Amino acid sequence: MDNRVFDSLLLDPQTTLRDAMARLDASAQGIVLVVDPTRRLLRTVTDGDLRRAALAGVDASAALATLPAKAPLTAGLHAAMRDVVELMDARRIDHVPVVDADGRVVDLVTRRELTQRVWLSSPHLGDDEAALVQEAFRSNWIAPLGPHVDAFERELAAAVGVAHAAATSSGTAALHLGLRLLGVGPGDIVLCSSLTFVASANPILQLGATPVFVDSEPQGWNMSPQALQRALRELEAQGRRAKAAVVVNLYGLSAEMDALGALLDAAGVPMLEDAAESLGASYRGRPSGSFGRLAVFSFNGNKIITTSGGGMLVGADAQLIAHARKLSTQAREPARHYEHVEDGYNYRMSNVLAGIGRGQLRVLEQRVAARRAVFERYRAEFASRALRWMAEPAGHHATRWLSAFVLELPQPQRARDLLLDFLERHNVEARPVWKPMHLQPLYANCRYHAHDDDVSGALFAGGVCLPSGSNLDAAQLDRVCALLHRGLDLVEAQA
Ligand SMILES: *Cc1c(COP(=O)(O)O)cnc(C)c1O
Repeated sequence: MDNRVFDSLLLDPQTTLRDAMARLDASAQGIVLVVDPTRRLLRTVTDGDLRRAALAGVDASAALATLPAKAPLTAGLHAAMRDVVELMDARRIDHVPVVDADGRVVDLVTRRELTQRVWLSSPHLGDDEAALVQEAFRSNWIAPLGPHVDAFERELAAAVGVAHAAATSSGTAALHLGLRLLGVGPGDIVLCSSLTFVASANPILQLGATPVFVDSEPQGWNMSPQALQRALRELEAQGRRAKAAVVVNLYGLSAEMDALGALLDAAGVPMLEDAAESLGASYRGRPSGSFGRLAVFSFNGNKIITTSGGGMLVGADAQLIAHARKLSTQAREPARHYEHVEDGYNYRMSNVLAGIGRGQLRVLEQRVAARRAVFERYRAEFASRALRWMAEPAGHHATRWLSAFVLELPQPQRARDLLLDFLERHNVEARPVWKPMHLQPLYANCRYHAHDDDVSGALFAGGVCLPSGSNLDAAQLDRVCALLHRGLDLVEAQA
């Protein structure tokens, strides 16, 4: 329902029953809302109310105000979809108007929407995955390891332009392995982007090391070279050197690799590139994930391509990647019996899932194009609104894995929450931007280097990720756009 339709549902109490019936017909929403001149909700009128009035002999030229009084059932501005559904079920109604603190009607939720969920980023299978999984069954390669795993590693390495790859059970497992292979252990310091998913940082803790978090730059939202420089200088002044730096490529956009790489090289700190969100992106013509000494991809269910769960550790160093494979399979030594010198993990990807991954990799370019088209639609549609998109600076080719913006409104966090509540009530899955690690209770005691202001904190406060899946159809996108316009109107009116 767009703004025009919503506004057409609001009727003055002096409207005749005949005109109300015409409105009901025209809007096809099954309800109209009777409001006073300040938009306070007086009552709702449904088809049933008008039918009962006709049966009772009320003339069609009578005013809505003459209908028997009926207190409207409403929800508040922060009502979640769950609350609205409970109300609908308990009171056997199909529509719930939403009113603000002054009783003014600002929104209407209809039961019809409850069967039309739009996801943030859902899996999108191609034509080949089923056949490749079938092949795993046919050849009895259900066990981990097997021909699909080897082929998936080769094919992904070729796609990303790196020499070697080791398939893992998750991106998080690949990060853990990567840090360990870079020698991170108890007492070490590891630099890490603050604005990221917690999986980028947890393996640092789990290896007994201490993270030092680095802020974002305001354009692309990735690690700020300026903040990194400060972090490196502070460590140098303390006579310390970070063992590694986890540089994250957010939402399908590579970090500023030239500047970050130069700073890290000069300081002698190896980069572990967290490319979990940026498969298919490039920076200055080079694929994302080919910059770090090691880099990590994820094939979790919400990523641009998926194996339902899985990851990959890639790099130019054959020995490091061979060691990763060994560690990911319990670090077994070459012997007939089970011989162990170092401790390993059960982190290998299964052959069945690698079959899915091979099929997904074949459609990666199409998935990138589709996500970019979703973003372009949003950008065109909301060009005149008070929001700022995550940029795609010169030299970058982003995948727009998630379309993300920050609200440019006063009290951005309040506005963001109102907007997310609105979208959720209409069964649209949108999310806040990642909550930075330096604001997480888990990492409250860690050192943090801001860009100048706390950029990542501000991105979290006002940032929203919209439905961005490559399988969104035109009708779903139309619906999200119409709702977002209304949600932004509502947020601005409440500001
Ligand atoms: C998804 C993600 C991970 C973790 O990948 P999993 O496969 O879910 O373990 C790590 N870092 C970032 C930035 C991610 O978005």
